[in-house]
Amino acid sequence: MTTPTLPIYLDYAATAPADARVVEVMQRYLTVDQLFANPASRSHMLGWQAEQVIEQARRQVADAIGADPREIVWTSGATEADNLALIGFMRANRERGLHLVTSTIEHKAIVDTAHALEKEGFEVTWLTPGQDGRIEPEQLRAAMRDDTALVSLMAVNNELGSINDISALAAVAHEFGAAFHTDAAQAVGRIPLDVVAQQIDLMSLSGHKTYGPKGVGALYVKRHPDIRVEALIHGGGHERGMRSGTLPTHQIAGMGEAFALMQQQYDEDNAHIMGLQQRFLRGLEGLDGVFSNTPLNDTEKRAVPNILNLAFEGVDGESLLMALRDVAVSTGSACNSASVDPSYVLLGIGTPRSLALSSLRFSFGRFTTEADIDHALALIRHAVSGLRTPPRQAAD
Ligand SMILES: *Cc1c(COP(=O)(O)O)cnc(C)c1O
Repeated sequence: MTTPTLPIYLDYAATAPADARVVEVMQRYLTVDQLFANPASRSHMLGWQAEQVIEQARRQVADAIGADPREIVWTSGATEADNLALIGFMRANRERGLHLVTSTIEHKAIVDTAHALEKEGFEVTWLTPGQDGRIEPEQLRAAMRDDTALVSLMAVNNELGSINDISALAAVAHEFGAAFHTDAAQAVGRIPLDVVAQQIDLMSLSGHKTYGPKGVGALYVKRHPDIRVEALIHGGGHERGMRSGTLPTHQIAGMGEAFALMQQQYDEDNAHIMGLQQRFLRGLEGLDGVFSNTPLNDTEKRAVPNILNLAFEGVDGESLLMALRDVAVSTGSACNSASVDPSYVLLGIGTPRSLALSSLRFSFGRFTTEADIDHALALIRHAVSGLRTPPRQAAD
């Protein structure tokens, strides 16, 4: 018998493990001998102290994106931040217009929310990206109307790693008097973010994609009279009235620490990940019929280095996933009872259905080692060759 080992984790884009330093901070705010008090309690010292912890984390998250701490609204994650940005902004700005512009390859937290807005009577224009997964400013310009209130386009795509030029896209939105929202859940720590320089009005953030805990995120809401957001969750009027609910001190302190660590080791993390990506790509060179759905090999930096979405021609993605049971990766496909639907993101950039069904997303992170990459490569080569070999006669 062999000892069971954990699979090699190459699914950082789905979630990253929390950094041990983050967990250490989180453990300070839960039990009776600690700072467990409600940060909204104004009547005692313990409440004020908990509030100070929240405010420090607010500064850490704000610093990471060049915002003012007063512009950070805590949420339960990027999904809630996306809902608050789209629904909250569109409902609060009906007099500006009922038109929203977004794209077909946004995260489901945007796609499904935009569909919900359509049912509520808002009108949505769905932009189709190029093969490189990017929306061009000229495309956005052509979609803008007098009644466009908001444009929402993601900074980094979670399945492809493709990068949008959010600064140029925001400029187009503003030319037409619309506000600009970006889902930056995959962008933090991967590309430089500065809400002032890039002129972002609303930005969604997540804790767990950046080595923080799951279940916490934030929406950056620019402090400007034109950027009004209506609450979706009503209660005690926390977070400038935009999001009620007792603040989870441990989650928020963890996200703050994670974002501070991200800033401290931004260069180190990215150099490490770039090295892993190069090693992974070199290791695949000997394997025929491998295509990258992630835009590669250019100086324009059209994709982040931690996500590689690859198509293995002639190999069924689900079978490959099964054959690679010692490597944790994902397909973007959705399983129904009857069949497997290819990833809507891959179809959205024009990938043929058969190639989309042959694709897997590999994503690396801070704790991935060169040994992980080498081991995964050996398993991939073996699995792909095995699945491509025509089945042999049973009797030999
Ligand atoms: C993970 C992710 C989300 C959802 O974030 P949660 O914090 O898990 O709700 C939203 N958008 C993108 C692009 C993501 O990658």
